[in-house]
Amino acid sequence: MTTQIPALLTHAPSTAFERGTITRRAVGHDDVLIEIAYAGICHSDIHNARDEWAPGMYPMVPGHEIAGIVTEAGPSVTKFAVGDRVGVGCFVDSCGQCGPCQAGEEQFCEQGAVMTYNSKDYESEVTYGGYSTHIVVKQDYVLRIPEGIAFETAAPLLCAGITTYSPLRHYNTGPGMNVAVIGMGGLGHMAVQYAHAMGAHVTVISQTRSKEDDGRRFGASDYRATGEEGTLKALRGTFDLIINTVSADIDVDALLKTLKLDGTMVFVGLPENAQTFSVFSLTSQRRSLTGSNIGGIEETQEMLDFSAEHGITSQVEVISADDVDEAYERVVRSDVRYRFVIDAKTI
Ligand code: NAP
Ligand code: ZN
Repeated sequence: MTTQIPALLTHAPSTAFERGTITRRAVGHDDVLIEIAYAGICHSDIHNARDEWAPGMYPMVPGHEIAGIVTEAGPSVTKFAVGDRVGVGCFVDSCGQCGPCQAGEEQFCEQGAVMTYNSKDYESEVTYGGYSTHIVVKQDYVLRIPEGIAFETAAPLLCAGITTYSPLRHYNTGPGMNVAVIGMGGLGHMAVQYAHAMGAHVTVISQTRSKEDDGRRFGASDYRATGEEGTLKALRGTFDLIINTVSADIDVDALLKTLKLDGTMVFVGLPENAQTFSVFSLTSQRRSLTGSNIGGIEETQEMLDFSAEHGITSQVEVISADDVDEAYERVVRSDVRYRFVIDAKTI
């Protein structure tokens, strides 16, 4: 039997959020029902809700940074029990059969992973995300939140955490490496902490110096502001790895030139517009330009465990469901320190 669940919905691009209800499927054999405690607001929620990437499915309930408690488990569930502290990230199903799924990289599923919201599941039902009080998810797509991490600061790890942890690991971040993090918002403040914990020398490249104290507290040894004349020029040939988290257009050439010989720049930021660059910025120092997409379930669990072990977590501002529209505006203005998290009790 399906259930009606309270949720925050937006009915069209750029319209305000409203309280309403959505239908969740009945808890199946392999499913858990999660009572959501907190849901993070990722900039991707804003891109999606405002149709900045592609036409969305409305009404839309965003939210793919979910933390809560298992309140019911289907009869075949073996991994979780009622009362467990769990999280859900950006996808809730995948084919399970293709090469990437078999390799634990379900985010690259050849059939297309089922995204947590603004997506259709394999039964063609529209998915609804974490801005709601409960969610039903297959056990294989649920993460365990370590005891040491509070729900509200755990939620952002499910997207901002894994999206930055994964490329840092993929490009072997470690001692002796110079890593730059461009943009210190939700993703950026996690990238700084992980790169530092992995032993790299970390530089933040922000628009201003307003977050310099925080950046250094998160583990950056250097902090630069692009708003100051000559900043990127002075950094030419400096970095082994750049994690670019910027949600808007960037000067790709100027940033590529801050890489050393054989350095790599990874896009995790997903701006609405196409980005352009000169091929010479790559060839002149055999540089690489690449992108990374969230992370698989196994690596997401590894990231959560790594976070607990290293005392890493997100810095959040808990808000009520009434404040989501204003929070979106503040994220767009880079006025967030460093993730808004919705208290699901207020929905
Ligand atoms: P966020 O909190 O808004 O952070 C983005 C940061 O980019 C801002 O804090 C700001 O940093 C910088 N920035 C914003 N506008 C800028 C501009 N016009 N010029 C230069 N810098 C600017 O967003 P987020 O939640 O971290 O997400 C960042 C991006 O990653 C979004 O596009 C999101 O959709 C994408 N994303 C991708 C994945 C993936 O799997 N690839 C996963 C999650 C999110 P400063 O204030 O320090 O300059
Ligand atoms: Zn996200």
